[in-house]
Amino acid sequence: MRKPHPPMPTPIECPEEIKAVLASLAIPTDLIAARSLVLHPEAQDLVVAATGEDGREYLLTPAAAAKWREMSAAALADGVVIRIGSAFRSVDRQAEIIRDKLAEGLSLEAVLCISAPPGYSEHHSGRAIDVTTDEGAPRARVREDQGVSLAVRERGPVRFRSLLSGGESARLRL
Ligand SMILES: [Zn+2]
Repeated sequence: MRKPHPPMPTPIECPEEIKAVLASLAIPTDLIAARSLVLHPEAQDLVVAATGEDGREYLLTPAAAAKWREMSAAALADGVVIRIGSAFRSVDRQAEIIRDKLAEGLSLEAVLCISAPPGYSEHHSGRAIDVTTDEGAPRARVREDQGVSLAVRERGPVRFRSLLSGGESARLRL
């Protein structure tokens, strides 16, 4: 008996509004395809996870906000104060960030090395944060138990059991 073919993964079609934003920034859609970037729809259900000293509110999904509280408490128990550097970001805000960098004279290629195109930033999901400490951005590492450890400069690692890393540097997916 022949095995049925495995189902082909269905790529998420780039919505028209995202296409329009990309076009306004002169970001070619084939560049997105070439990089196999993942579309991240904007989260709808958001809560204030933290408020910065400047009064800026950092929004996350309720589940991610709960994880953040757990994580920052765990860090504090290790004697490290961690803060959110970036949390939920709208597609419009991402476009504004890119527009500002282009206005500063950076090439599109250079900008896209640092920032995801609008629609493709994990920050849209409300489940990704960038973490900072007084000592700068820590390095995040996924542990074998699928927890995350943040290597805080000079103070050694702070460990989080229940969090999954989004990958490089201190961008965490909650
Ligand atoms: Zn980020």
